Amino acid sequence: MYISSGLFIVVLLGLFSVVVTMAWRSSSNSNSGLIEQLKRNDIIKSTVVEQAMLLTDRANYVYNHPYLDAPQLIGYDATISAPHMHAYCLTVLQDVITIPNAKILDIGVGSGYLAVCMTKMNPSAKVYGIDIVPGLVQYALKNVMKQDADLLNSGRLVIREGDGWLGIEGEDKFNAIHVGAAAESLPRPLLKQLALGGKLVIPVGQQGEIQTLIEVRKLSDDDDDFNKAYQVKSLLSVQYVPLVKDN
Ligand code: SAH
Repeated sequence: MYISSGLFIVVLLGLFSVVVTMAWRSSSNSNSGLIEQLKRNDIIKSTVVEQAMLLTDRANYVYNHPYLDAPQLIGYDATISAPHMHAYCLTVLQDVITIPNAKILDIGVGSGYLAVCMTKMNPSAKVYGIDIVPGLVQYALKNVMKQDADLLNSGRLVIREGDGWLGIEGEDKFNAIHVGAAAESLPRPLLKQLALGGKLVIPVGQQGEIQTLIEVRKLSDDDDDFNKAYQVKSLLSVQYVPLVKDN
């Protein structure tokens, strides 16, 4: 098909503006304004997610443009994810985060924001946030201390160094596991560490290529038969920094 160069440019500009509009359309100049926009755009659909995000001011977790609906740099080649991605992942995991006494793992805790939201979604949950970069573990702890030191002091939230390819061994199994960095393949230890009925949400794919956010639900403990043990669902095309391999 022949397309004139003028028309081609118009089509390109159109596509560009759609992408820009989607990324920025929930932006605001306050935390409550941001949450309101995310609700209006049907990204926040429940009061549980809404309340957790209202109680967790993003300005405590990122210095630049906290209320812009786009990822922001937080140092060490890491980014805090865009608010719509945080809201989306909390929504997908809500049913397992809110199980009484749920055990939750946030891998690539980065700024600490999402782990705090998870803790606030369920007062009986215990949340672990791990990151491979010691400087980011310190950054997350410093951010949480600003307004939510009680979560750390009570032990309801634990933030520490760890490798997401391995998860946390020797603990009870997790009802919810969120991974905030893209893995080249599904990390087997994380599948093993899921409780029955538990859910893993993880971006999978190479850096620079289109990655897919995947939801894995554990249906049985018979790990030898993958298709019987796990139900896998593709959710969205996404772009995340890589889940690095610790050599
Ligand atoms: N979810 C966080 C940060 C996302 S950036 C937020 O929104 O604030 C991805 C994070 O994954 C970075 O903090 C990076 O250091 C961490 N990361 C990368 N590879 C990792 C690995 N193998 N194990 C644990 N964390 C890792």
